[in-house]
Amino acid sequence: MALIVQKFGGSSVKDAECINRVAGIVADTYSEGNDVIVVVSAQGDTTDDLIDKANEINPKHSRREHDMLVSAGEQISIALLAMAIEKLGLPVVSLLGWQAGFSTNSSYTMARIKKIDKERLHNELDAHKIIVVAGFQGLNKYDDITTLGRGGSDTSAVALAAALHADKCQIFTDVTGVYTTDPRKVSGAIKLNEITYDEMLELATCGAQVLNNRSVEMAKKYNVELEVLSSIKREPGTIVKEAIKVEKMLIRGVAKDNDVARISVLKLEDIPGVAFKLFSKLAARKINVDIILQSVGRDGTKDITFTVPEAMAEQAKEATLEAFPNLLDDEVLIDTNVSKISIVGAGMETHPGTASQMFEALYDAGINIQMISTSEIKISVLVAKSDAERAVSAVHESFFPED
Ligand code: ASP
Ligand code: MG
Repeated sequence: MALIVQKFGGSSVKDAECINRVAGIVADTYSEGNDVIVVVSAQGDTTDDLIDKANEINPKHSRREHDMLVSAGEQISIALLAMAIEKLGLPVVSLLGWQAGFSTNSSYTMARIKKIDKERLHNELDAHKIIVVAGFQGLNKYDDITTLGRGGSDTSAVALAAALHADKCQIFTDVTGVYTTDPRKVSGAIKLNEITYDEMLELATCGAQVLNNRSVEMAKKYNVELEVLSSIKREPGTIVKEAIKVEKMLIRGVAKDNDVARISVLKLEDIPGVAFKLFSKLAARKINVDIILQSVGRDGTKDITFTVPEAMAEQAKEATLEAFPNLLDDEVLIDTNVSKISIVGAGMETHPGTASQMFEALYDAGINIQMISTSEIKISVLVAKSDAERAVSAVHESFFPED
């Protein structure tokens, strides 16, 4: 007998029909002789709606009350799912985060799980009950409700799987797995059978949102094998794990990230310490810098260009002007009309020519590259936002030819 953790996202439990379908999947898993723990998110857009309500009453509400409110979404879905399972005649119990033993630190709205007290869970499993746990929530040392950050139910599921040494952690969603690129945009997108944690993390940070990042980091740390699959179509999904068989596939996916701004700082003095001065000011403001490019010094000056998330562009400019008060306003330029296109794959480490194949595809499509950055398993380029969709298609077609 195996212990299986199954997580269902908001779209999988959005209405009665969906909840009944989920109950059916859970019941089948249980009836095959497994212990089952189910983690659910709030139905559909419930969390967003609750946040809107909060902002309508008081946009400056405290984070404690924020968590008190948004955690209610998951309370609704666990009870409804448990009722649907009861209807199928199976033993079931729904538990809020604290009842399932989740203790977190005190950071409301972005709490970290500190410990899972497993006693109640073991008792319910010993009584052969299906356990339905509210995702996304826990309790801090003041006995107050906390939440784990948006998309946190994935993390709840992985944490339970790790704590209980589950045999499997299945993440059900509205897509049938992880694809080589967005299947809604590129017709040749291919579903992957397997992907490594590192590749999944890179794809997620590049804007392919299938799994919450923190849950993948946690799965990697505790070696929890994940399966991403559809709650509608019953077919095998994508397995996320440490290492995978070497396949012919050199890269695992092409991702696009529109949440990028490019900051160019012109005519900086070409002397030691300039980059340090700039990036320490940015770090002090907790601004995430991604790609960095410095020009070769000429006539005693140099330019530094870097990218940040769009919402941080103005702050980054302020920090830059703080570091170099002598710069003129038009010597610190912000461009938000850019996108980052990335290819990700553990296979590229040992394959020279991957970068040139990507650049050739972009050249053939007549797309100009503004910046480039590489890591062991990723190559990213910055292009104009208006070229982004075409860039993804061109690069995808080059690595995954459709025929
Ligand atoms: N309901 C929460 C959210 O929408 C948690 C989750 O869906 O994982 O962010
Ligand atoms: Mg949700």
